[in-house]
Amino acid sequence: MVERASRRSAKGHREASDLAAPVSGARDAGVPSAPVAPSKTTIALVYDFDGTLSPKPMQEYGFLPKLGIEPQAFWAECTALAKAERADPLITYMHLMYKKAKEKGVRIDRADLVAQGKTVELYPGVDGWFDKMHAYVKKHGGDAGITVKHYLVSSGLAEIIEGTKIYRHFANVFASEYWFDAYDLPFPKRVITDTGKTQFLFRINKGLEDYNQSINDHMPENERPIPFANMIYFGDGDTDVPSMALLKKNGGHAIAVHAPGGAAGKCVELFKAGRCDFYAGADYRTGSDLFKRACLLIDRIIADIRVKEEVRGLGR
Ligand SMILES: [Mg+2]
Repeated sequence: MVERASRRSAKGHREASDLAAPVSGARDAGVPSAPVAPSKTTIALVYDFDGTLSPKPMQEYGFLPKLGIEPQAFWAECTALAKAERADPLITYMHLMYKKAKEKGVRIDRADLVAQGKTVELYPGVDGWFDKMHAYVKKHGGDAGITVKHYLVSSGLAEIIEGTKIYRHFANVFASEYWFDAYDLPFPKRVITDTGKTQFLFRINKGLEDYNQSINDHMPENERPIPFANMIYFGDGDTDVPSMALLKKNGGHAIAVHAPGGAAGKCVELFKAGRCDFYAGADYRTGSDLFKRACLLIDRIIADIRVKEEVRGLGR
């Protein structure tokens, strides 16, 4: 992951043209007018993993079955332990997974976790979705230089995600991860909580995708390579509320998904609370409600970019 993160971060750095963007308002200040900054033409589709791209928590496909543990009992124990110890629920699950493995004498290293990624099931159409979105954006916005990138922000495990067949489609993956050689038991290296997910939306927004880059320095809006308005977040529940809220408050977009054919209750709740633009069953195949609604939001983002460019042309 470290190698991947640094390689990917090079892609995410601001380009020279972004850095050269002039400060708006210079004209009002009586100084010679500078050209308005070109619109940012990258769209980011950002996904949660468990329940959004995959039906079940990723640990339920390989890790827990290998230990012979019933998932429901495991998650109930996590919840009870976190409550009793006033511990973070995500640190608790990462700790408890390996505590159980040790108790059962099962050794699961990084390579094992990556291998478990191959067993993770995906919702219908997820396999082909990413390329189809590239094709759609190219068809409808390619003439204006508009492109799309896919990002994953998950509280699940980076190692398991790395083993899934869709890993190669992501420009970057931000997920919880273990430190395998720190202690006797693997120790959490990075834990991505619900609110922690928003940090990565800012990293994508500012082009600071390497974990080593400080995210907190001020960066004017017109220097940020992917405006929030160019982002669509896909999530399935309460754990996605901070990310959806951040985007919705900053001109971005969100879609809530539920199991295809399953109850839409949580999505309706999110929709009514203004957390998402749309909701749909997690069916990623061409022509599905989700496909059509995602394309509708992409159409709007492309139209907004074109409008800004037209206005910029008049202001030259
Ligand atoms: Mg989820």
